[in-house]
Amino acid sequence: MRLFFFSIYITLNSLNLSFSQSIKLELSKKNKVPTNIILMIADGAGLSQITAATYENGNKSNLENFRVVGLQKTHSANSLITDSAASGTAMACGTKTTNGTIGIDTKNKFYESILKICEKKGYNSGIIVTSSIVHATPASFYANVNSRAKYQEIAYQLSKSEVDFFIGGGEKHFTKRNDKKNLMNEMKEWEFVKSIDQFDSSTSKKVGYFISYEEPPSLIEGRKPLLDIGLKSILQKLDSRDKPFFLLVEGSQVDWGGHDNDLEYVTSEYIEFDKAIGVALKFVDENPNTLLVVTADHETGGLGITSGNVKKFNPKGRFSTKGHTASMVPVFSIGLGSKKFSGIYDNTEIFNKMKSQIE
Ligand SMILES: [Zn+2]
Repeated sequence: MRLFFFSIYITLNSLNLSFSQSIKLELSKKNKVPTNIILMIADGAGLSQITAATYENGNKSNLENFRVVGLQKTHSANSLITDSAASGTAMACGTKTTNGTIGIDTKNKFYESILKICEKKGYNSGIIVTSSIVHATPASFYANVNSRAKYQEIAYQLSKSEVDFFIGGGEKHFTKRNDKKNLMNEMKEWEFVKSIDQFDSSTSKKVGYFISYEEPPSLIEGRKPLLDIGLKSILQKLDSRDKPFFLLVEGSQVDWGGHDNDLEYVTSEYIEFDKAIGVALKFVDENPNTLLVVTADHETGGLGITSGNVKKFNPKGRFSTKGHTASMVPVFSIGLGSKKFSGIYDNTEIFNKMKSQIE
């Protein structure tokens, strides 16, 4: 008993948690309560994108709450400059592969993603993104395809997957198909909702919410703020089930702003992502048996911040490419197992470190 309270005391001091949180965490360790994993990826967000968004946001970012920071190398199996399929596969499946490939390595070996491995251990799972749900990054967590462009095949694999909740765009890949199938009709276990309110009130086992028929628009073009609101909803759903969970969150369009060399596009999308980080942090605070990892899959645009007014915090930047770069990207982590994520390592280690947490 004395040892028990002593360990609470240690935990309290080292993690800066409240007494009740510490007891909750200590009890969860004692009973081997599994770790919830929230992986948040801002596509194309290197240090300059994060810096620009932080200043644009009045010189504040939820990332400043993290104490463990690492860097990941993003090169793929065949290129110094990765694409989102190869980097998504590295983080989801733990293997390097060629650009454009999802869930399959260079020797044609198929991999199970961390999401699937979690599901096999009795986890629930969710995905929320601001691109279509079949885009390369989310697809890396539930599909195995030799080309990221095979959207209809990826949609089919999602329909057969273990995923329990999703929010994202791209309904057409499920309903307007060359094989004439309507996957939404075939997904019998699923309820498809048309709003966040409907998502919240649904009691179905699996719930999907298509926010758009095609790719969702950018925030500037009128997409309603979604990531923080949707994340709150999906976390509530996962938390209401009596199981641990794996959740993927992607701020998909930071990358598209980079490809457009449009700094306002980049910062507005990242500021939305930052709000979602705030939601996730609150969840970790209330549920200490959770690991939260926030990172990117690569940098896009070769952005440098080259001017701006220090009193107005209005960063101005210059892009050096319309494509991706090989710059390492930061990894921020907090919660159970977060210490593993400090240091410099390959993107495949993101998978290994998450996996070691659920073993
Ligand atoms: Zn890109």
